[in-house]
Amino acid sequence: MIISIEELKKLLINNNLIDENTFTEVYQEAKKLNLNILDILFNKRLLDKEYYANILSNYLGVKRINLKNLSIPTKVLKLIPEKIALDKKIIPFKDDGEILHLAMVNPVDYETISLIANLTHKKIEPYLILEDEMRLGLIFYQKIYKEEYEELLKIEVSKIENISNLNEEAQNVSAIKIINNILNYAVGLNASDIHIEIFYEYSLIRFRVDGILKEIMKLPKIIHSSLIARIKILSNLQIDEHFRPQDGRFKTKIGDFEFDVRVSIIPTLYGEKAVLRLLASTFKPTSLSDLGLNEYHENLLIKAIKKSYGMIISTGPTGSGKTTTLYTILQILNSPEINICTIEDPIEYELNRINQMQVNTKINLTFAEGLRSLLRQDPNIIMVGEIRDYETADIAIQAALTGHLILSTLHTNDAISSIPRLLDLNIPKYLIASTLSVVIAQRLVRKICLNCIYSSELKTYQLETIKEQLIKDGLSEEEANNYDIPHYVFKGKGCDLCNYSGYHGRSGIFELFFIDDDLADYLSKRDFNLVEFKNLLKNKNYKTMFQDGLDKLSVGITTLEEILRVIRE
Ligand SMILES: [Zn+2]
Repeated sequence: MIISIEELKKLLINNNLIDENTFTEVYQEAKKLNLNILDILFNKRLLDKEYYANILSNYLGVKRINLKNLSIPTKVLKLIPEKIALDKKIIPFKDDGEILHLAMVNPVDYETISLIANLTHKKIEPYLILEDEMRLGLIFYQKIYKEEYEELLKIEVSKIENISNLNEEAQNVSAIKIINNILNYAVGLNASDIHIEIFYEYSLIRFRVDGILKEIMKLPKIIHSSLIARIKILSNLQIDEHFRPQDGRFKTKIGDFEFDVRVSIIPTLYGEKAVLRLLASTFKPTSLSDLGLNEYHENLLIKAIKKSYGMIISTGPTGSGKTTTLYTILQILNSPEINICTIEDPIEYELNRINQMQVNTKINLTFAEGLRSLLRQDPNIIMVGEIRDYETADIAIQAALTGHLILSTLHTNDAISSIPRLLDLNIPKYLIASTLSVVIAQRLVRKICLNCIYSSELKTYQLETIKEQLIKDGLSEEEANNYDIPHYVFKGKGCDLCNYSGYHGRSGIFELFFIDDDLADYLSKRDFNLVEFKNLLKNKNYKTMFQDGLDKLSVGITTLEEILRVIRE
């Protein structure tokens, strides 16, 4: 925030926008959820966004601009590279030739103003935008990519369609251009996967964006085999092999960013299908609160990672964000005095100063073998991609017991099930009690698009669904009835900026417990009983993923449908 919390309080109270009690209450809530107080005030309709923006711009003595109803010419946007725009939280929106009109989250940041003046050789006229409107601005940048690549692809495709007997060489040239454009386009849309598939009548391109597959375009069938051949060349696969599945990878640079592309090709009815997974080459550091952890969860996790030994387990199905969470923890711990190594399958991102080893079953380099050799490398912290057999679990536990911090994942649906899972792997209870520090379970929910968010009263059937789920989570009927369920919920109407999905970006919902003395005592002395253990946790403010989701529902981060979708998946 560009003004301090005290200034904000004064500004709001002096303008009769809020009373002191409400402010304090919301401030506490914001702290608890690790959110910006303004976001909560806006979403709960305690403060009108436009009104606040006007008051703030008066206070700062700058003009106000609302990007919402603006169309920004591409050539104006291109005056400032997206990376700088993102970094400095600015969006150029009008160019008078002499004067560049610049929307800024902090319009009194004179350093940035002079930087942009130097960069563009123009006088800068700063305007105030609010933090969340910045996201809107970045969607403008994304739209440039989209338009450009769509146009280029259309040109290539029409070439193929117009020449009926396109020779092989021309096809290959087209294929190179199309694959390049598809990659650029996918990055512009923030897609995680590209599907290139073939059906009876056409070849189909789909992207996975925010976890959901979307049809992007149909291409003429004739080009399909050239596209697959191009991908095989890029990833060093056998071009003449059409009947066996093949896996590979390649690196590519798009704009300023390097990407690892993981390739999988399989034979299907009408030809081969390729799936390309896009991974930013170097891990983009995020904070724990950016992942969506609330303050309480963050504190417990920090407590666990500050210990120089023990085990941190992250659970959830594939695509739930558990690896990203572990990478974020490694990034927090990463410092020159500490030796961090990993054994992974596959290595998803390259991490600076961290020794990453890839599982290779062909030479018997399994998780267990890898872990064994890493222990001879004088490590402080080890990440083991996954624990799925007794051998790996046993070595990991021994390492955690002897002064190493071990991070790993388990395939369980919720956090509590990790304990019976470890027991199933024949790990004795007393060892679990003395090594396990924290277990995190998580899912990713899509966030509501801030450009088209609206609120509505919670419907009776929704209230019933929430109570049902709470009871499934282990609450009694009485507890479910007394639960603090939000009266208002939010949704995105769907707009140009979110491709009419109503969603933009993703956040985690979490459940997390820390093994304190109490729980360790229970684990080592008593026979493990799921219900008893749940009751113990309940007394320690334990919240299930669904309950964490409800907190996020009440402040307009996501929808009830979305929470239920990921929890029931
Ligand atoms: Zn929208």
